[in-house]
Amino acid sequence: MPSYDQNNIFAKILRGELPAHKVFENQKAFAFLDIMPRAPGHTLVLPKAPVRTILDIGPEDLADLMKATQTIARAAMIVFAADGLTIQQFNEPAGGQVVFHLHIHVIPRKNGVALKPPASFKEDPAVLADQARRLAAALKGV
Ligand code: 5GP
Repeated sequence: MPSYDQNNIFAKILRGELPAHKVFENQKAFAFLDIMPRAPGHTLVLPKAPVRTILDIGPEDLADLMKATQTIARAAMIVFAADGLTIQQFNEPAGGQVVFHLHIHVIPRKNGVALKPPASFKEDPAVLADQARRLAAALKGV
């Protein structure tokens, strides 16, 4: 498998070299809104460790990533008045991965509302800013 590329988009976001609508950060994990959400509140949760796929991450970092994912999922249910959640994670191009820093998709769902196709719709930055502010507020102090 290819090695980790330090210049992938999410590595640049983690280093603060590119902007993102951040919602959560702790010692091991970082989360921000997807710029092409498949539903309102679509959030990406990343390990800070430089890993390409789920095959590469150590067990402790993986546990921390999943804990952060659950924390964000619980907050997203409330903030986006969701009826459920879709959690997705893709590995390598064959698995549907497009950005090669491991990440988990947390997508709030409403009954009867289909997901938008991947990368089909770029959200208004003002909408993302408002959603990120509300989700970050719900996650403050957790
Ligand atoms: P995957 O690699 O799991 O297939 O998906 C990558 C995800 O990253 C997609 O849902 C896409 O919309 C999102 N994405 C791609 N580029 C950017 C970016 O520059 N900023 C943010 N916030 N999301 C991005």
